[in-house]
Amino acid sequence: MITKTASLTTARLIEVFSAIQGEGLNVGTRQIFIRFALCDLRCHFCDSAHTWTAPSSCRVERSPGLRNFEIYSNPVSLPLLLQWIERQNLPGLHDSISITGGEPLLHAPFLVQFLPQLKSLTGLSIYLETGGHRPEQISMILPYLDSVGMDLKLPSVSGETRWQEHAQFLQLCYHASVEVFVKIIVSSDTDTAELEHSAQLVANVSPEIPVFLQPVTPLELAQESGQKPVFAPTPAQVLTWQADMKRSLKKVRVIPQTHKMLNQL
Ligand code: SF4
Repeated sequence: MITKTASLTTARLIEVFSAIQGEGLNVGTRQIFIRFALCDLRCHFCDSAHTWTAPSSCRVERSPGLRNFEIYSNPVSLPLLLQWIERQNLPGLHDSISITGGEPLLHAPFLVQFLPQLKSLTGLSIYLETGGHRPEQISMILPYLDSVGMDLKLPSVSGETRWQEHAQFLQLCYHASVEVFVKIIVSSDTDTAELEHSAQLVANVSPEIPVFLQPVTPLELAQESGQKPVFAPTPAQVLTWQADMKRSLKKVRVIPQTHKMLNQL
């Protein structure tokens, strides 16, 4: 079910800015990030809890990468958002545009209108970052996407259980003409049986789909924010898990959140 805040011509945003992608297949590339508000999951390791509810305002970078933010009211109209992207899109600077959140698929009706216009305005590839649990909404916008980074949530690490939705979601992406990869956050609490299940789930769609094991970045202020503390896995755990998953998958890479190392947003 789409939340009642979803709209065809306006969206609730958190921020628009230019930065280096720190995760997954596009790591190291320069992207314009459009971060949408709202998320229907509550992952224990979430570093974006400020996106869970829609704020009354959003922030928009005036010049790409300079962090000179202006504040605007939510919700934001589609033409205004396109104007902000046009301002960010200096010739040759960006490799692609990241549609992120929160859970951007909660805005699927807006994205159906927005993405074709975004593509024709910028000519840039469009990449979606998602929790990977809303197959109905991804099918609405797949024709407008170039790549999808979907999370596969381990119950032992995230507190969320979405196996069936993940399987359906991955099938849809794989059989569409988009590049898709899977990201799995691992922590010291990771249940190895869940990793085996994940490997099978992906292999059942295709063993060629790249999987990224991402050691969790411990939340510094977990106790203050009320979130459950999470701890990074040991090097030995990560090596074992990668070896186990490579029995059924061809591409299993281990990459932490590199943007945190670079002090990026
Ligand atoms: S899906 Fe993403 S934004 Fe939502 S709770 Fe999980 S980590 Fe946070």
